Amino acid sequence: MSAQETEIRKGSCACGSVSYAAQGKPLFSVYCHCTQCQRSDGATFVSTMHYPPSAFSWTYGAEIEPLVENLGGFVLYRCQSCRSCAATQIADSGNWAIRGMQLERDENGKIINWEGVKPTGHIFYGTRVVDVADDLPKWEGHQGNSTKLA
Ligand SMILES: [Zn+2]
Ligand SMILES: [Zn+2]
Repeated sequence: MSAQETEIRKGSCACGSVSYAAQGKPLFSVYCHCTQCQRSDGATFVSTMHYPPSAFSWTYGAEIEPLVENLGGFVLYRCQSCRSCAATQIADSGNWAIRGMQLERDENGKIINWEGVKPTGHIFYGTRVVDVADDLPKWEGHQGNSTKLA
C-alpha cells in the first residue's frame, strides 16, 4: 500500500470525548452549503469529507457512546457531553462524513497535512449565505449532478 492509502486522519468533537480515525484518501472532500449543515452546525458552510465504511472507526472508549440521531437519509453521532456532531453516516451507502474542521492540528493550530484532504469544490452553493471568492467549482446541489454555478 502507498503512504496515501495508509495515512490515518484523527478527529474529535469539540470537547474531545468522542474521537474517530479515518484511513486513506477520502472518497471526496468539499465545502457544503446545504441548509442541514448550516442549521445543525450553526455554520455558514462546512468542510466535509466522505470515507467508505471500511476506512472509518471510532477511537473513544466504550463508556462514552455518542448520541445517535436518525434523520432518515443520514444518522448524526453527537457527543453526549458537548453535543457537537462528531460524524454522520449516510444511510444508503454506509459512508461516513467527517468534518475537516475537527481534524487533528499541529502546534500552530493548522490541520495536519491539510493539502492531502483539502476540499475540491463547493456543493449546495445554491443555498449559500456567503459568496466565496476562490477558484473551486461551485455546484447548485450535489457535485457533478446539478447546475454548475461557477
Ligand atoms: Zn464532546
Ligand atoms: Zn451539507
